[in-house]
Amino acid sequence: MPVTGARFHSVSTTTMWRCGGLLRLTGGCVNQKIWRWRSNSACEKALQYKVGEKIHGFTIHQVTSIPELFLTAVKLSHDNTGAQYLHLAREDSNNLFSVQFRTTPMDSTGIPHILEHTVLCGSQKYPCRDPFFKMLNRSLSTFMNAFTASDYTLYPFSTQNPKDFQNLLSVYLDAAFFPCLRELDFWQEGWRLEHENPSDPQTPLLFKGVVFNEMKGAFTDNEKIFSVHLQNRLLPDHTYSVVSGGDPLCIPDLTWEQLKEFHATHYHPSNARFFTYGNFQLEQHLKQIHEEALSKFQTIETSTAVPAQKRWNKPKEYQISCGPDSLAADSSKQTTFSISFLLTEITNMFEAFTLNLLSSLLISGPNSPFYKSLIESGLGTDFSPNVGYNDCTREAYFSVGLQGIAEKDFETVKNIIDRTIDEVIEKGFENDRIEALLHKTEIQMKHQSSSFGLTLSLYIASCWNHDGDPVELLKLGNFVAQFRQCLMENPKFLQEKVKQYFKNNQHKLILSMKPDDKYYEKQTQMETEKLMQKIDSLSLNDKQQIYKKGLELRAQQSKPQDASCLPALKISDIEPTIPFTELDVALAGGEIPVQYCAQPTNGLVYFRAFSSLNTLPEELKPYVPLFCSVLTKMGSGILDYREQAQQIELKTGGMTVSPHVVPDDSHLDAYEQGVLFSSLCLDRNLPDMMHLWSEIFNNPCFEEEEHFKVLVKMSAQELSNGIPDSGHLYASIRASRTLTPVGDLQETFNGMDQVRLMKRIAEMTDIKPVLRKLPRIKKYLLNCDNMRCSVNATPQQIPQAGKVVENFIKNLSRSKKERKPVRPHVIEKPVHNESSGSTHVNGSQIIRKLITDPTFKPCQMKTHFLLPFPVNYIGECVRTVPYTDPDHASLKILARLMTAKFLHTEIREKGGAYGGGAKLSHNGIFTLYSYRDPNSIETLHSFGKAVDWAKSGKFTQQDINEAKLSVFSGVDAPVAPSDKGMDYFLCGRSDEMKQAHREQLLAVSHDKLVNVSNKFLGTGRSTHGLAILGPENAKIAKDPSWIIR
Ligand SMILES: [Zn+2]
Repeated sequence: MPVTGARFHSVSTTTMWRCGGLLRLTGGCVNQKIWRWRSNSACEKALQYKVGEKIHGFTIHQVTSIPELFLTAVKLSHDNTGAQYLHLAREDSNNLFSVQFRTTPMDSTGIPHILEHTVLCGSQKYPCRDPFFKMLNRSLSTFMNAFTASDYTLYPFSTQNPKDFQNLLSVYLDAAFFPCLRELDFWQEGWRLEHENPSDPQTPLLFKGVVFNEMKGAFTDNEKIFSVHLQNRLLPDHTYSVVSGGDPLCIPDLTWEQLKEFHATHYHPSNARFFTYGNFQLEQHLKQIHEEALSKFQTIETSTAVPAQKRWNKPKEYQISCGPDSLAADSSKQTTFSISFLLTEITNMFEAFTLNLLSSLLISGPNSPFYKSLIESGLGTDFSPNVGYNDCTREAYFSVGLQGIAEKDFETVKNIIDRTIDEVIEKGFENDRIEALLHKTEIQMKHQSSSFGLTLSLYIASCWNHDGDPVELLKLGNFVAQFRQCLMENPKFLQEKVKQYFKNNQHKLILSMKPDDKYYEKQTQMETEKLMQKIDSLSLNDKQQIYKKGLELRAQQSKPQDASCLPALKISDIEPTIPFTELDVALAGGEIPVQYCAQPTNGLVYFRAFSSLNTLPEELKPYVPLFCSVLTKMGSGILDYREQAQQIELKTGGMTVSPHVVPDDSHLDAYEQGVLFSSLCLDRNLPDMMHLWSEIFNNPCFEEEEHFKVLVKMSAQELSNGIPDSGHLYASIRASRTLTPVGDLQETFNGMDQVRLMKRIAEMTDIKPVLRKLPRIKKYLLNCDNMRCSVNATPQQIPQAGKVVENFIKNLSRSKKERKPVRPHVIEKPVHNESSGSTHVNGSQIIRKLITDPTFKPCQMKTHFLLPFPVNYIGECVRTVPYTDPDHASLKILARLMTAKFLHTEIREKGGAYGGGAKLSHNGIFTLYSYRDPNSIETLHSFGKAVDWAKSGKFTQQDINEAKLSVFSGVDAPVAPSDKGMDYFLCGRSDEMKQAHREQLLAVSHDKLVNVSNKFLGTGRSTHGLAILGPENAKIAKDPSWIIR
């Protein structure tokens, strides 16, 4: 259930670090009750509601069991306001709430986006500043955020604690329906004119504001520029022709009055859709929503509906420009080109389902017609942005094209697209490809993520927003059955759709984008003109007002904050102990440890293997990420890469390989290095999946040079496109490079060095020397010399899975002679188990071989990566102590405390950056960072001030308790059945160690916090590393202590 589309969202500093799709690292509280999942009492209870029943001001309209998703849907509406409500009862403790408003702006001032930010700044019942961010510290929420899409705004949260659910619901309802919307909030979050130095009226006036800067940052991303224009021009008649997030040049036209008016007409119950999910009682939710919000409103007529787009009678063509790709050497091949077609209304659900599948058939994987004709033409580096099916608008659209092409190749690309469509109409699709896609749908329904409620909320949001029935949308089984029926009755069913929607469709947009060296210069110039225009229209009195308001805002931001009006959990609401996960470790083939974890996986098996890199020669190391990314895509045994892709799609839910570097939990100078193989499949397909792995390990192909080139180009493009979104991560990796022995390897695998290496390889005229490295890496890696495996499956499936995995291991090759590790210092470290006091792991020992460097000396390094963006990404890193050290727990709480009580105000509210904060990683690196930051040197000063603040101990016991709650909401985040036991398998972290760490976290005191601030963070105490990604900077250029790259 992919959720796509251009979304602008406010990401809190904690979620920002969580949003990489990484697993949460510690155990949830589900596993002792695991077998109760089968009873599914929440669903059964919900089935007893009667249609027509009235509960707390609501009427029940429909009760439906949806067995394929293990849930019961209850549809209601609110009697007095017409507010719509959907409850999905499911035996899942991670309960979710969301409320969604249809917000359809008619200009690009970013009104819905600025409103989304501003309602979170205080409300009638909770008038303190920024209750949303404050609740992050008073709750055990597993998710809190807000999204502004093109035509709706959504406020979701989730938590496993019933009291917490009520608290958060109260804050969310009050924020959405009764916000203060103070003028100063609008100034801070939206835009304002303010003196560069607010306390000095002699300094120039500038545009400031959180959304203003956020959108400036967003438009440094060329893929985003392209996507936004595509939607604006394909649907030009109504709300989709404007930028809902805000165009930085239009944002300063928005007034505070307009904002308040927009709230009154859009954030009304009659324009709202409520959604709840999980195993908590529906009645309680209804009662609270009715009493605290809806009972205070009456129905209004809303006029937020989006009309259908008037269809064109001939195609349209546009050309736009963007900033140059900072990393590309060949500036003549930086053009993007695509053709897009307007399809059907997304509320036309079966048609939309069919077109979604059809789009996947056209563009996904090496067997798809557009991959063959466009990607393999070698004309570009990758598909154009937003390729495939897009359904975040009232009418869906399909887009296809290439990026990284030469301008002269436009016509060629266009002809290829037309020709491909003709060929598909003529030949259709292979049956196996259709089966593979339906199989994928089956796996998506069975795979449980730890945030299933959020996934569902986003899945139904667009269709429901246009009055489609969300319950029908969830009945995926019906769509699949109907689809099979259509194909059976008419074998040309899909070909006819291609003809109708692609060949004979005149609503077709041809869009191209090329880089302009002066793009950012021009943007800056236009911004300056806008600024001058604003300033010229100011009277003397206006100017005095601006100065006064700037001071007022600064004073308000610096005032001590009283959040006591907000509800909060207590430290005693944190569970003192964690339930343990039962694991079994057996030796396969007498030597390879295999960890088994029995879980309610809905009939899926998850297989992983870890293989050490210790014997790999140093000069091959930088190529490991590339090796990993192509290994399952180059063919193996008798299968060429197309056949292999087909088999992977037909038999598995995915097979991936990634480099994996794990710092040791008790020594900063030791780490484990290896590669992780991950995969999943339906129970019945496990032998086939393991056969595929077996062929990849024993007989991988590294011959197809052209195909290899294509894969390299695509991943290089993906890496460089990712920089605007992950700049702070690149800065942090770089800043910690010289602080621990593992830092250098992390830079090599995941840092800017890797981005540049990939870019270089992608531009080589002769790629053979690189290709020839792959079989060499294979020799050291794809054998069972230093390997371990893990299996997560249902208890019934585990004995069978054991046999299949044993068989796989027997067939693996072994090195004839023992290979010596490249680095001389290797420690053999047994992972804790029964003999060392662990009660939850049965069977054999896992022994990990760690690399260490006894002579390592951390040193300071400051790097400035020059990038042509108008914003900075900054990381400052400090080497501290490993996970098992009690100071680690104190530093973890301290990082949260500094973020919530100091850095958030300095970096975001005052500095105008999109985000900023502090973080302690498992590897013992303490990081201060900022994200999409208009400042650089000033931010580094703020980091220094934050450290002084921490050392001074000017925080209260309440502050500390809040930081602890916030840390525990991460520590206790739910873990999906597929990921249980992974800490033990990958990092050797047992539940006993986690329990010990938990007790250390709970024991953190004021003294300990001041103590670790002094001990580690002050200058001269530990070694610091710094890195900035951003534009040229005169001050840094003059300072010889900086390395500029
Ligand atoms: Zn935002």
